[in-house]
Amino acid sequence: MGNTEELDLVLFLDANMPNIQDCRSSRCLADGRIFCKHRFHFEFKWFREEGLIHSVRLFDHQVILYCLGLMRKFSWVKNLAQKGRFVLITKDHNFLRDAQTEWKKRTHYNTSPKLDFGKDRVTIGKLSIIIKTVLCPKEDPGGQEDFLRIIAELNFLFGKK
Ligand SMILES: [Zn+2]
Repeated sequence: MGNTEELDLVLFLDANMPNIQDCRSSRCLADGRIFCKHRFHFEFKWFREEGLIHSVRLFDHQVILYCLGLMRKFSWVKNLAQKGRFVLITKDHNFLRDAQTEWKKRTHYNTSPKLDFGKDRVTIGKLSIIIKTVLCPKEDPGGQEDFLRIIAELNFLFGKK
């Protein structure tokens, strides 16, 4: 996966998020309308739910388990998750509470792994998944407005000054 030493974050895009586009030419560097890596002032790699599980929308708690699977599969993802640098971005305000409710219904006191639901994150042992909700306008889902909000919020939170 290239050089992962210098990454600041790993982002996981919920299915309701627009996908980050691949940089196909140097043109995107200057073109602010293209929603690509160049818009962000930090180093990251990203995953999303789509592409692996076609057209099946996962329940919120399944998304969390899916993220855990990525941590097991890629050591660099796990390393960042241990530093609290695994960030799941979603438009869904109820993501964390829904995931918690679903999880409670399906688990027992001895269920493994143990998921600890906090105010803005899920903790599993030493690993954290930070849940970041981005406020997006309803009028233009997946449109330019969404991109701009996501870019502004993430740069505000994680951008290098
Ligand atoms: Zn680019």
